[in-house]
Amino acid sequence: MSLKLSTSLIAHVDMNSYFASVEQQANPTLRGRPLGVCAYLHKKGCVIAASIEAKRLGMKVGMSVEEAKLKVPSAVFVQNDPPKYRAVTSRVFSILHELTDCVEHYSIDEAFLDLTGWYRDPAEAAWALIRARWRIRDEVGDWLRCSIGIAPTRFLAKTASDLEKPNGLVVIDKDNLDEILSKLDLEDVCGIGPRIRRRLEKIGIRTLLELKKYPVGNLMRAFGKNGFYLWSKVNGFEVENVTPFDGAPAPKSVGHSYCVPDRVNKEGKVLATLIKLTERAGRRMRALDLLAGSIYVSVGLRQDYGFRSQFDSVHDAFWRPGAGEGGTLYTLFEEPASDSFSLVGAATELLRELWHGECVNFLAVTLTNLAPPSGQRRLSNVGARHASPLPWDRRTDRKRLASTAADQIRDRYGDEAIMFGQMLGLGDEAPDRIGFRKVEGVEIQ
Ligand SMILES: [Mg+2]
Repeated sequence: MSLKLSTSLIAHVDMNSYFASVEQQANPTLRGRPLGVCAYLHKKGCVIAASIEAKRLGMKVGMSVEEAKLKVPSAVFVQNDPPKYRAVTSRVFSILHELTDCVEHYSIDEAFLDLTGWYRDPAEAAWALIRARWRIRDEVGDWLRCSIGIAPTRFLAKTASDLEKPNGLVVIDKDNLDEILSKLDLEDVCGIGPRIRRRLEKIGIRTLLELKKYPVGNLMRAFGKNGFYLWSKVNGFEVENVTPFDGAPAPKSVGHSYCVPDRVNKEGKVLATLIKLTERAGRRMRALDLLAGSIYVSVGLRQDYGFRSQFDSVHDAFWRPGAGEGGTLYTLFEEPASDSFSLVGAATELLRELWHGECVNFLAVTLTNLAPPSGQRRLSNVGARHASPLPWDRRTDRKRLASTAADQIRDRYGDEAIMFGQMLGLGDEAPDRIGFRKVEGVEIQ
């Protein structure tokens, strides 16, 4: 971190209503219509992106599909499709990479660009970005919109791109900084929530302009280091530099979860869903060439026990509604593992401890403590007498090879090409969000 009154030229590019716009780009029948992209098409599924049209009618990210339908009856819903968004993002970002050598991939639909030295002034940078936006329109998709902010710091660039949506371009410099800050609320600054606002108000700061002019020493006495950061942000000091993209960082964990849409308490179905989630997480982890040190399984149980299964009636005398709340358990692997057999075996054991036939509404599997293979053998194998791998190692190698071979078959012939026997007959449970998407509310002629 370097502290300087910033003379940098930073841009922030934010794709507008991103997932929904990509869906509309891919499917022309969705264009111009209120569209919600959701995690699942079930009525309890959550809207994770709304098209510009849907936002105008009041649909908000975070609503359930049920609520969104009530609010916007004409809305169309599609299930999300992350690989598609990632593919579009990489094409958009590759255009941005032609503007400067320093582009930070901030999220799937946002990037920071350090344009210092590449363009003379904000006006020249603005033209370069407008040309980039034309290229995104012509080369990636004419339905995609992005708002652009240009300023001397990251914080101000992001603030600028937020001001005009969709498709805006705002430049913040020392001449209009005060005017723009006067239009914003304290909580528009990242790092100021209701709690910090109350504390700021206590020392007499009610607006961002008052924060800007407040003596920084006093702020630091009240807020410590954070006081300095808040003051720097609104005064145009840079406190965090653009970090160029140099390959995706290795993930800390890989997991999948599933909200079970119907009351499910059939052992086969719960187990099959869990195995499917484990397999999918395992496959992603193997593709990254990582091993898991531990595995977590979470089971959510239904709280509304209107439905009585045979199992319940047997235990009726002991049944306390709400007694079972599910939970999370984990296992540490003796040796970091990546093969299907170890992962599914551990997940199954955890399920047996967590679940005793109640109605399940949520299942999740997470692989954590991920690390690349060290190439070392087990400690017990270190010894002059065992120059060749022990049977234990050969068995592990075989399991790992079998899992990798199964992954290759699935890459080529689809997820269902090879699976554990317990997964047969699972049907549409925990649908694959990559291969088989459903679209609801659209008639395709
Ligand atoms: Mg966005």
